[in-house]
Amino acid sequence: MSITMKFDVVVVGAGVAGLYASYQLASMGWKVALIESKPAGRIGDKVCGDAIGVHHFEEIELTPPSYTIDHQYKGVKIYSPSGKHSIIVPGEGVSVNRIKFGQWLLEQGLKHGVTLLDQHVVTDVVFKDNQLKALRVKRVGGETIEVEARAFIDASGYRPAIRSKLPPEWPIAERPYTTDYNIAYREVVKVDKPIEPGEVDYAIIYLNIEIAPGGYWWLFPKNREGDVLNIGLGVINNGKYNPRAQYDKYLRPVFKGEILHAGGGVVPTRRPLPTLVWRNIASIGDAAYTVNPVHGGGIGSSLLSARIVSKYLNSALESGRADEHTMWQANIDYNIAYGAKQAGLDILRMYMQKLSNEDYEWIMENKIVDGSSVYDLGTKGDLAEKIVHGVTTFIRLLGRPSLLNELRIVRNYMNKARELYTTKYPEKPDGIYSWMKQVEDLFNEYATRIGFDRGSLVKW
Ligand SMILES: Cc1cc2nc3c(=O)[nH]c(=O)nc-3n(C[C@H](O)[C@H](O)[C@H](O)COP(=O)(O)OP(=O)(O)OC[C@H]3O[C@@H](n4cnc5c(N)ncnc54)[C@H](O)[C@@H]3O)c2cc1C
Repeated sequence: MSITMKFDVVVVGAGVAGLYASYQLASMGWKVALIESKPAGRIGDKVCGDAIGVHHFEEIELTPPSYTIDHQYKGVKIYSPSGKHSIIVPGEGVSVNRIKFGQWLLEQGLKHGVTLLDQHVVTDVVFKDNQLKALRVKRVGGETIEVEARAFIDASGYRPAIRSKLPPEWPIAERPYTTDYNIAYREVVKVDKPIEPGEVDYAIIYLNIEIAPGGYWWLFPKNREGDVLNIGLGVINNGKYNPRAQYDKYLRPVFKGEILHAGGGVVPTRRPLPTLVWRNIASIGDAAYTVNPVHGGGIGSSLLSARIVSKYLNSALESGRADEHTMWQANIDYNIAYGAKQAGLDILRMYMQKLSNEDYEWIMENKIVDGSSVYDLGTKGDLAEKIVHGVTTFIRLLGRPSLLNELRIVRNYMNKARELYTTKYPEKPDGIYSWMKQVEDLFNEYATRIGFDRGSLVKW
């Protein structure tokens, strides 16, 4: 007979999303368990670029202590494939120390009474009355226990531990396509030769599809001296490229020094889940695909989704029942705050993954985009009016009429996608299935129009 533990809420995954949600819900007075496969001391450790715009913290009113921040940026610098052209996207950012930040979030949760089950892996789910009743959880090298709760949050990252075991017809169980992911490899290196002093103030992105097909490679400084660098690259997950091999071939020979941390990772680069809530289950962070599809940043939006879901789960539990009806507003709030932008950027991402180095070079050499239009694109998810309709860019784009035409098509689909996640998003759960069909039709139509192969549905 296995042991059974009972909680109000069980959160699976102690990444930023699960740590923040468990802390929030415990501080609201609920009895919360946080289940994590890693040992407690390694919580926070994550292969990541570590860069985040400070506006993300401001928006959720979270102030991480200064010891959790390694370095500060004035903005993002983007280089063309040849390295001859660059643009600066303004905006204050920081390099987070992921371990220290994770440990700090964990401390906040523990102080508010979160029960941490570290070194525990979710292996199975138990249903009762069309709801999730419990999780079967195995302690590493030990026994299996059952953990029951009134509600569950899947915050277990790109390979979702709960969602993958739910009935496939539940909208929260939606499976992604293989190309909805980028696969990445990165190292933190103490380099023998520091970068130029002028470069240390920027998170630097290099567009070069020979080095990073369907993605980009990055160099994010982690100190003022410019000799500790977070260097990595992401490639489209279409079975053709290996990010580690690309790194070894192109970047390792350039950045020699002592490797402080190394590893691979997977980033969902798509629109969010159709719904973050279904029955007594919610999903947040990478498990709910909350990453920005174009630049792959997901720390901020993981925290945001955790905050929004915690708020509505709290009121649902107070009302006596947590399900899609009592928590639906979480979807509406998330889409307005971030999801609609993601949907637009998912359209742009698919187009960008078809561009060549010559296209990027031409776009940057002819100043079709500048820092402020990329900033607008990043904050609003709109293909800035001035790129497609601006007089000066229009005249320049006449030199590449096919590009002008494509940009108009992309802009049109971006607008339609955003509309589906805002004004056309169902007000109530009943409308979700017909809405999902509209989204799928739009993305299929667009993929066919631009000749994008979405790959196959991921098998979990
Ligand atoms: C290479 C790379 C670079 C990135 N660069 C940036 C960047 O510069 N800026 C940025 O903002 N974002 C970046 N991201 C994205 C960002 O790291 C993620 O979006 C964010 O950390 C997701 O947090 P999460 O809590 O949702 O998931 P995760 O951090 O993946 O946490 C999930 C947790 O669940 C645990 N878990 C999984 N399965 C189980 C199970 N069955 N049982 C128990 N526990 C389980 C895992 O051990 C893990 O601790 C990058 C990602 C990668 C891979």
